[in-house]
Amino acid sequence: MNTEQSLKQIADEVSACNKCDLFHSREKGVPGEGPPDVEIMFIGEGPGFHENMQGRPFVGAAGELLVELLGKIGLKREDVFITNVVKCRPPGNRDPQPGELSACSSYLERQIQLINPSVIVTLGRFSMARFIPNAKISQIHGQAIQTKGMLVVPFYHPAAALHRPSLRSVVEEDFAALPDLIKNAEKAPPSQPEVEVEENDQAEQLSLF
Ligand code: URA
Ligand code: SF4
Repeated sequence: MNTEQSLKQIADEVSACNKCDLFHSREKGVPGEGPPDVEIMFIGEGPGFHENMQGRPFVGAAGELLVELLGKIGLKREDVFITNVVKCRPPGNRDPQPGELSACSSYLERQIQLINPSVIVTLGRFSMARFIPNAKISQIHGQAIQTKGMLVVPFYHPAAALHRPSLRSVVEEDFAALPDLIKNAEKAPPSQPEVEVEENDQAEQLSLF
């Protein structure tokens, strides 16, 4: 099976999945979409109303803003892979629960392995937490962080910019800086940034002894 076929297989599995309770209320599973050979993967939280109806990620208001922000850095949505940490809509757009995140996690894991992107951009807290647990988005948004062999750049969720207009310019600046982050990443992987989470990890480890 080539990468495209394997991604299609994941999408088929998501459509039929009943591994967590979200399958009861979903209209359509939203596996994510994009070409198999992209450099950048955007990972959001979970489908909302419109995504659930259409089976496609980021097609509502947050999606419109995402497409606008991508456009400003010369990218179309077809140039990147867009998906979410949970593939079915949490009812009423509530936060995904830990059990749902872990039940769904292997689909995203397989997508990442197949696509092997140069950069993963996480959109929002839940997506960030999957790669960089215990970090604060207000402290690390827009920074390129090397973790487990991947370069992860946490961004605020576009919906946050819609709800809090004061965040709009922050989100725009983070997007504007992305092309350079990617260029630098291709030249040389960045050294470990000093994010608070690592200090916490160390502190935790030390307290074990
Ligand atoms: N918000 C998300 O996190 N994902 C979507 O697909 C749409 C809105
Ligand atoms: Fe399956 Fe994920 Fe949908 Fe839960 S959210 S039913 S694990 S595809």
